[in-house]
Amino acid sequence: MLAPLTAHELGARYRSGVATPTEAVTEYLARIEGLDRHVHAFLTVTRDDALREAALADARFKAGTPRGPLDGVPVALKDVFCTRGVRTTCGSRILDDFVPPYDATVVTRLRAAGAVLLGKLNMDEFAMGSSTEHSAFFTTRNPWDLARVPGGSSGGAAAVVAADLAALSLGTDTGGSIRQPAAFCGVLGMKPTYGRVSRYGLIAFASSLDQVGPLAKDVEDAALMLEAIAGADPMDSTAVDVPVPDYRAALGQGIEGMRIGVPAEYFMDGMDPEVERAVREAIASLEKLGARTEPVSLPHTGYGLAAYYVIAPAEASSNLARYDGVKYGLRAAGARDLIDMYSKTRAAGFGNEVKRRVMLGTYVLSAGYHDAYYGQAQKVRTLVRRDFEQAFARVDLLVAPTTPGVAFKLGEKEDPLQMYLNDIFTIPVNLAGLPGVSIPGGFTQAGLPIGLQLIGRAFDEATLLRAAHAYQQATAWHTRKPPLDGATAERAPR
Ligand code: GLN
Repeated sequence: MLAPLTAHELGARYRSGVATPTEAVTEYLARIEGLDRHVHAFLTVTRDDALREAALADARFKAGTPRGPLDGVPVALKDVFCTRGVRTTCGSRILDDFVPPYDATVVTRLRAAGAVLLGKLNMDEFAMGSSTEHSAFFTTRNPWDLARVPGGSSGGAAAVVAADLAALSLGTDTGGSIRQPAAFCGVLGMKPTYGRVSRYGLIAFASSLDQVGPLAKDVEDAALMLEAIAGADPMDSTAVDVPVPDYRAALGQGIEGMRIGVPAEYFMDGMDPEVERAVREAIASLEKLGARTEPVSLPHTGYGLAAYYVIAPAEASSNLARYDGVKYGLRAAGARDLIDMYSKTRAAGFGNEVKRRVMLGTYVLSAGYHDAYYGQAQKVRTLVRRDFEQAFARVDLLVAPTTPGVAFKLGEKEDPLQMYLNDIFTIPVNLAGLPGVSIPGGFTQAGLPIGLQLIGRAFDEATLLRAAHAYQQATAWHTRKPPLDGATAERAPR
């Protein structure tokens, strides 16, 4: 079986000639055929393209001219990235039949690296949500328990990596949407520094927060993926020209003497005691590996969520103004005039959560309320960022839970505020623009994964990966697989 392997293990098999990209891709496609009836992660499977690309990769290995470590590796993408000639929905009815004429820069880079695209993955509509229940199409299931959510908004991207339906995937994280589903599905999910990865061709949610990042089976794979996608891009002026280090080279150096801060505010009343226990045990493991931990305080943490739910909807209301039925996507029939067409199209094309955010965002930006809400939230954002600056004057890294709880049941969080609370530990990192990673940090008694979050200095993903790698070497959480194979579970209804 090739599907359970990591990308770097797969690459080693290709190079030594004991397996070919076509064998791996064929096996993955068969798994998708057999298991995605239960998981519901794929919105689109690009079967023919995948087999064609795999054959080309086979030929490169045969000729001894592979392109690099991702050549022939089967990957899948959250359906938020534009893919030339391949339907791209962003989880929304308004883009139901949208086929982009171009590739996002990250897609171009993955193709150039030889990666083979298996398909596009389910997500909350316009990346607004924490469970994929806000997808306009169907809800993705958590491979560890099909009655539970995989997290979101990159729920499909986390589920496929957990269920071995792709070797690697790409997601986006605006307030936690890579790290939270990674935690719920027991895989690694990394949000790089704001500006580290190009967003050209990424369908925008909240532009001062959105960032692209990998979901992976282990740290080496995340390093490979980040290296392939990171760096400046003439098509995106927000992708900063900071050199991209050799991330794999930093792995294996250990964490002897590293200073790691433990933020008091990330262990709050009401959090799941099993999560707290696992994170405290992980901190003890990091100490055993030679790190020096110390308590730190991020006093404005409690205000982050409120500031985010002003800033993100404000930016979303502006970004989503382009879906008007004129340029592309859905156009409602039977309109009397232009304004009527706009409103009919948007009423039919957007789901409730998107509408809620557009209304909220429009309100906080309106004349008379702008200073009271949007302006105030921006000030709070600065305070949150300063908390981190002060902490990073003393420590190299912060360690915390990724989420206050584990994967919840489908339909359990109907109240939007309950849903929003999921991201209380991930949102401050986006507000501050810092890199953060969630890695497998344990399991509950009931067998659900627990995420451990590491937060680093801006553009210092290398230190994050190094610490994550040291922890991974000392633990076996990342090697556990969900009980999906041989599962006789009834076909889970969409
Ligand atoms: N769950 C958060 C929200 O709904 C974050 C989403 C994200 O990171 N894209 O906005």
